[in-house]
Amino acid sequence: DKKSSGRQVLVLGGSRGIGEAIVRRFAENGDNVVFTYAHSQEKANAIAAETQSQAVKLDVSDRAALANAVAEAGELDVLVFNAGLLAAGDPLDIPAEEIERLFTVNIHAPYFAAVEAARRMHAGGRIIIIGSVNADRMPMEGLSAYSTSKAALQGMVKGLARDFGDRAITVNVVQPGPTDTDMNPADGPLHETMHGFMAIKRHAHAGEVAGMVFWVASQEAAMVTGTALTIDGGFGA
Ligand code: NDP
Repeated sequence: DKKSSGRQVLVLGGSRGIGEAIVRRFAENGDNVVFTYAHSQEKANAIAAETQSQAVKLDVSDRAALANAVAEAGELDVLVFNAGLLAAGDPLDIPAEEIERLFTVNIHAPYFAAVEAARRMHAGGRIIIIGSVNADRMPMEGLSAYSTSKAALQGMVKGLARDFGDRAITVNVVQPGPTDTDMNPADGPLHETMHGFMAIKRHAHAGEVAGMVFWVASQEAAMVTGTALTIDGGFGA
């Protein structure tokens, strides 16, 4: 039977925001958590010490290093791909290199991470990618590359769910709406505009998103696969 604690969990992008909350949620449950950071070394080391998890430095856009980090995390029960970039502005002005980097981190990296994890994942494993409600609703200007990247994840999880279903591995995308992090602070300049699109007019706490991820990773969610689970205060409604 599948374990409900003591699982081997890898969180790619776990040093801040939603990823940090996910690391804390699994660690509190008694799972063995390895997580990566790109820049926030001090923060990552503090989280690792506090939660008895392991922090590994990794830029997920480096495909060889990414494959290596996933392989080194061992036979996983749960892979969470959380790292993500935002680029805002007029598409006529944003440098192409910036857009390519966004697509690499937000689309290519979760694909390769999922495939690499599946090579040695336990039967009944969980692959969870953090997308965005912007895959379904993009009611603002200047974020088209971001919404493109998050929409791609919906196709990704549908296909990979088929590919790995014979081993009862589930593949899903969790789609937050506005969530209070460095990327989208609850008191940022656009908060009133964003709350205007919502039924529940506040940013989510990162821990609320982590709770949904934790549930998707549970045994109860064994039949949830190839789908998007949205947690957005009604932003997409
Ligand atoms: P933050 O910007 O607060 O944190 C981003 C995290 O990703 C950090 O831990 C960062 O590590 C890591 N990261 C970024 N780039 C890389 C990279 N190249 N390699 C490895 N790690 C990297 O973001 P959030 O917590 O807000 O967002 C997390 C996810 O949730 C993203 O995919 C985002 O698109 C999505 N999301 C967020 C929403 C929001 O309102 N906040 C809404 C919908 C979706 P480091 O600090 O070391 O650089």
